Amino acid sequence: METLKLDLICGEKSEKIAKAAEILKNEGIVAIPTETVYGLAASAYSDEAVAKVFIAKGRPQDNPLIVHISNIDMLSEVACDIPEKAYKCAEKFWPGPFTMVLKKNTSVCDSVSRGLDTVAVRMPSHVTARAIIESAGIPLAAPSANLSGCPSPTNAYHVINDLDGKIDAIIIDDECQVGVESTVITLAGDTPRLLRPGAVTVEQLREILPDIEIDEAVLAEPTSDVVASPGMKYKHYSPKTTVYLVEGDSDRFADFVNSKKNSAAICFKEDKNINIPYIVYGSECDEGSLAHNVFSVLRDIDKENYSDVYVHAPSKTGVGLAVYNRLIRAAAFKVIKL
Ligand code: AMP
Ligand code: MG
Repeated sequence: METLKLDLICGEKSEKIAKAAEILKNEGIVAIPTETVYGLAASAYSDEAVAKVFIAKGRPQDNPLIVHISNIDMLSEVACDIPEKAYKCAEKFWPGPFTMVLKKNTSVCDSVSRGLDTVAVRMPSHVTARAIIESAGIPLAAPSANLSGCPSPTNAYHVINDLDGKIDAIIIDDECQVGVESTVITLAGDTPRLLRPGAVTVEQLREILPDIEIDEAVLAEPTSDVVASPGMKYKHYSPKTTVYLVEGDSDRFADFVNSKKNSAAICFKEDKNINIPYIVYGSECDEGSLAHNVFSVLRDIDKENYSDVYVHAPSKTGVGLAVYNRLIRAAAFKVIKL
């Protein structure tokens, strides 16, 4: 299949957005930018379109998709029995990098939620994403636009690398601002629960949901096959180079990595005295910068033939928790504490 490239950086935008919307209405699949990562969109009302997403990505069959909406009226089209606290969260965190799991409305295909009676819903803030949903006039199911298991795509070239020839179209736009996927919480049970950390932080969530619990799979390897969010049990975000996550201060990190042969480091700009090849992924004091770059550096590391890469672990506070959550999965839970 030839993948149509709809370039919004040069030329007229509205025609290309209308073209993407037309493809989506006709049950095609299109990679679109969002503020978190690039998404691979399909109509949430079409089993046929949703099936194409699973095939293109090689996504595990039990891993449900997030449905994207562009205005609050669409929420009751995709979810039902919506609790008051969901509206409070929507008011505070939407549009933005925040997803709520709610009871599913029957209008959404069962193939989106993979047989669960719940649906994950997000309203993105990205202007292009919103314009495409508005123009298509339907909610869009959209996982990250990468091959399953690979680092998530934060620019159009990452998407081209993974999915060119496998999907109908790719919107070419600027790189994604946040860089990690949305925060996911569930409000479908008795107590609110964080399933995946993101740019909306635990600290912010506690202001609206003081009783929110953090699912154990956020920071550890799930011990059972039955998890609240099926995506959490898979090895994720991994480059071909073997990743190790290393916790420790700057001096210990440098001493540790300097003894490693045929290896590289991914470190903070504050790290000093590293004598092996390294890539800086941001500032230790600015977790947002680490989130913005983490997937991109995991892809860059594969351009050389190192056997291993040692990543300096961020703090687990603020957006750092989201970065840590992605990195332990990229490392297949191999954490070295110095
Ligand atoms: P991605 O599509 O890569 O952004 O991942 C979406 C995440 O949301 C995965 O971890 C899914 O397992 C999770 N998710 C989507 N729908 C649901 C749902 N109905 N219940 C629980 N988790 C969900
Ligand atoms: Mg993904």
